[in-house]
Amino acid sequence: MRSAINGLSARLGKDRSLVQGPGGNVSWKDGVNLHVKASGTWLADAMERDIFVSLSLPDLHERMDRGEYAFTIDRESKPSLRPSIETALHAVLPHRVVAHVHPVDVIARSVRRGAQVTFARLLEGLDWIWIDYAKPGEPLAKAMRTAANDMGSVPAVWVLANHGLVVGADDPAQAMRLVDEICVRVAISPRAAAFGPQLDALQPWLEAGYRLPQDPVAHAPAFDALASELARRHWVMYPDQAVVLGACGVFDRGDGPDPRQLHPVAPVVVVPGAGVVLAEGANPACEAMLVCYCEVLLRCDTADDIVSLTPEEINEIVHWDAEAFRRQLVR
Ligand SMILES: [Zn+2]
Repeated sequence: MRSAINGLSARLGKDRSLVQGPGGNVSWKDGVNLHVKASGTWLADAMERDIFVSLSLPDLHERMDRGEYAFTIDRESKPSLRPSIETALHAVLPHRVVAHVHPVDVIARSVRRGAQVTFARLLEGLDWIWIDYAKPGEPLAKAMRTAANDMGSVPAVWVLANHGLVVGADDPAQAMRLVDEICVRVAISPRAAAFGPQLDALQPWLEAGYRLPQDPVAHAPAFDALASELARRHWVMYPDQAVVLGACGVFDRGDGPDPRQLHPVAPVVVVPGAGVVLAEGANPACEAMLVCYCEVLLRCDTADDIVSLTPEEINEIVHWDAEAFRRQLVR
C-alpha cells in the first residue's frame, strides 16, 4: 500500500493542473491509524522523502465527536512534522484512501453562479456531493461531516465550491482513476495563452527587485482582456490564493502611487499590456499558485456570474493562523 500511495501522491503532486506547490493532500487508513500528508510538505516529493504522519483514527473520531477538528500534535517519532490542516477532512471519509486536490477545471467551474447544477449534469452517475464554500480546516470538515450525516451516507466524490475536489477510494489506483475521470468530465478548453512580456515596459520593475515568471501563462492578467477584468474584480477565487498572492490584486496603472512603495512588498504585480512580475523573494509556491490562477482565469468565459471570496472570507483566511499557514506554503 505504502509504495502505491507514494506513487499516487507523486503523480498528483507533479501535475500542476491538479496540485499547486504544497497544496492538496493524500491519506490512507490501515484500520487503526490515519496516515496523512504533513503540513508544509509537497505531494510531488513523496517518492524522495517521507511526507506522511500518523494519527490514531479512534482518537481522531473521538476528538471530532467532541467538536475538536484541529490536530496539531503528531507522533513523537516525527517531531518536525505536523499533520495537514485538512486532517479532519480525511477522517470524515471512511474510505481507505482519500485524495484532496485543486484541479483547475473543477475550480473554474465551481466559481460560477449555479455551478452545482452544472456539476450535477457532468458528474451524473457518480456518487458525489456539492459542498458550499467553507474556510479550510475546521469549518470545511464540519460542513462535510454535517452533509454526510444529513445524507445518511458518505459519498466518494466531493466538489468543494471555490476550492477543489476530494475523492475517497478503496485503493490508490481507484483514487487516481476517479480523479482522472472527473477531470475529463469537467474539462474546459482554456483560451490560448501566447503572451510575450514587454521587457522595456517592465524594466523599472525588474530593476526594483521583481522578476519574470517562468511560465508565460502567468502573464494572462496583463494581456487577456477577460483575465484582466476577472483579476480586478475577482482576485481571490479560492483560499490558498489569498495567502500566497495577497488579498487583492496590485496593478501598475502608471497614474497612481507607485506600487513599488508598497509595504509589505506585493508578491505579484500586473502591468497591463506589459506583463506580470513576481517579487524576487517569491517562493516556488507563489509561482505555482499564480500559474494556477491564470489557468482558471483562462477557463472563465464571463466576469459577471463569478462568485469569488467575500472580503470577510478573505480576511478570515489572511488573518487566520496566518504564520502557520504560510509556513506550510514555503519550501
Ligand atoms: Zn485544499
